[in-house]
Amino acid sequence: MLRPVARGCLGIALAMFALTAQAITPEQEDAERIGDLVIANHILADQGVLDGFGHISVRSAKNPSHYFIARSLAPALVTIDDIMEYDLDDHAIDARGRHSYIERFIHSEIYKARPDVQATIHSHSPDVIPFSVSDVPLRPVSHMAGFLLDRTPVFEIRSTGGDGTDMLVRDGALGAALAKVLGGGTVALMRGHGDVVVGTSIRTATMHAIYTNLDARLQAQAIALGGHVTYLNQVEAASISRVLDDQADRAWELWRAQASRIRQGP
Ligand code: MN
Repeated sequence: MLRPVARGCLGIALAMFALTAQAITPEQEDAERIGDLVIANHILADQGVLDGFGHISVRSAKNPSHYFIARSLAPALVTIDDIMEYDLDDHAIDARGRHSYIERFIHSEIYKARPDVQATIHSHSPDVIPFSVSDVPLRPVSHMAGFLLDRTPVFEIRSTGGDGTDMLVRDGALGAALAKVLGGGTVALMRGHGDVVVGTSIRTATMHAIYTNLDARLQAQAIALGGHVTYLNQVEAASISRVLDDQADRAWELWRAQASRIRQGP
């Protein structure tokens, strides 16, 4: 039994903890997420994962059945005024004449299928394309890509859309089929197109997208050497993935500085 004074101290400590825990409101959290979303657009463009095309989104903390993504625009040019809010049926909340990305269905269907996912990236990441069209699976060769499964799944758009699509995930049915191929994983390749990469935050998703591209390049180089290739096993992969996800801020700050230096260039 605690003495009254001790109980009083405990009460004050708990109240202070509750106050600290409530220090960030969902509105403030969304403002932070939108700020990170703009920076992630620039980082992914600077790192060569996104070019004129591709997009990144983040789930709303205030309303988890909404997400934020830029209007149809090259990622390197995205500013805070370009960020739009959508519901999970891909209706813009306040379009104000701004055009939407055709393939936004990728994002909504992944958020519907994966409550754990807070950020989604769709890219035409050049180094992954060979693995999307080959029967050689993308696998983790670098410890920086421990989030990869032993065989990265490949979305074949013909399985859902038939032989006559334009290759774009332009409706909810195609988005849902892609989300199903992603399953509980972090990356799914899209045949002849690119990939989708997810994370529990914008920063982890950004790190995953950058290292997916790098791992694909390294795996192709390892295979080109002609000898036996040793991949991470799934225990090694899962273990290092946990360590690195906790350190996403370290890489983020570097990539952010590099991206801002280039934006301020001539
Ligand atoms: Mn695309």
